[in-house]
Amino acid sequence: MQVAYLGLGAMGRPMAANLARDWPTTVWNRTPAVAEAHHEAHGSVVALSLEELPPVDVVCSCLPTDVEVAAVARVVGPTLAPGTVWVDHTSGDPSGSREVARLLATHDVAYLDAPVSGGTAGAAAGTLTVMVGGDEEALDRVRPVLASVAANVVYVGPAGAGMAVKAVNNALLATSLWAAAEGMVALTAAGVDPDAALEVIGSSTGRSFATQTLLPERVVTRAFPQSFALPLLAKDVGLAGRVLADGGVEGRVLRLVEQLTAAAAEELGDADHVELVKLVERAAGVEIAPRR
Ligand code: NDP
Repeated sequence: MQVAYLGLGAMGRPMAANLARDWPTTVWNRTPAVAEAHHEAHGSVVALSLEELPPVDVVCSCLPTDVEVAAVARVVGPTLAPGTVWVDHTSGDPSGSREVARLLATHDVAYLDAPVSGGTAGAAAGTLTVMVGGDEEALDRVRPVLASVAANVVYVGPAGAGMAVKAVNNALLATSLWAAAEGMVALTAAGVDPDAALEVIGSSTGRSFATQTLLPERVVTRAFPQSFALPLLAKDVGLAGRVLADGGVEGRVLRLVEQLTAAAAEELGDADHVELVKLVERAAGVEIAPRR
């Protein structure tokens, strides 16, 4: 199958690299130098403009939100052959993604909302989890392509369902990260060694991705690598708020997490999402660092 990949950000670059190993892959990026570097490193073919995409069977996209996807789809949609499948790995608004699906359907292009989980490490390893909403028959056609980027592909329901699951997942990530930061700052202030506390929690009922991976690998080490920008997490928590509202769920916990995360993104700008832990540390005057 011929593949096009649109959007070579932190996720798109490694995903498109894995695709280029298995399929003839054309890449496009808003900043063309990124696509040219991708060609040099991974042998992908560069499209300098959206109008220049060759005929393809599958279009993959990974852009900040459904708004950018809609803008790109308005340009690319009319150029695609009927029967093309568009696999959108963006984490976007379920209702916005349904609009993109309707727009592409007018060109007989099937749109799947297919956001991913697993971070940049999972993208590099080709072991992402993909949650897919839309037409299941279209999904079956592109499963071989998804196998190049994912270890786990789960069909979750009609158009927009993948986006909804992703938003709720990331709201849970934000909630557990804030809670873990507060708990670990308090334990450090109480004189507990953070490594020892995280070892206990890691094999106990309070564990989460935050306590098992993010805090031990990125906070205690003070590494704070840039992998997933805080404004993108804030966007996802906001989207989850809408999913809850649509379902008639008041969401008092989530509303608080949404406010905290939005305020942190305002204060820290494009910092990595794990840096929100520093705000909790600063407020308490305690760093989650090993005892010397
Ligand atoms: P990045 O910020 O690293 O990359 C964003 C990409 O979108 C770049 O290719 C950028 O191009 C492009 N872009 C930005 N604005 C526009 C625009 N107006 N028109 C066209 N292209 C545009 O984001 P990530 O790769 O981290 O995230 C992409 C999506 O994946 C987001 O929805 C995010 O929530 C989701 N996600 C991210 C994860 C992560 O760990 N990073 C994990 C799972 C999901 P340019 O190079 O020109 O700036």
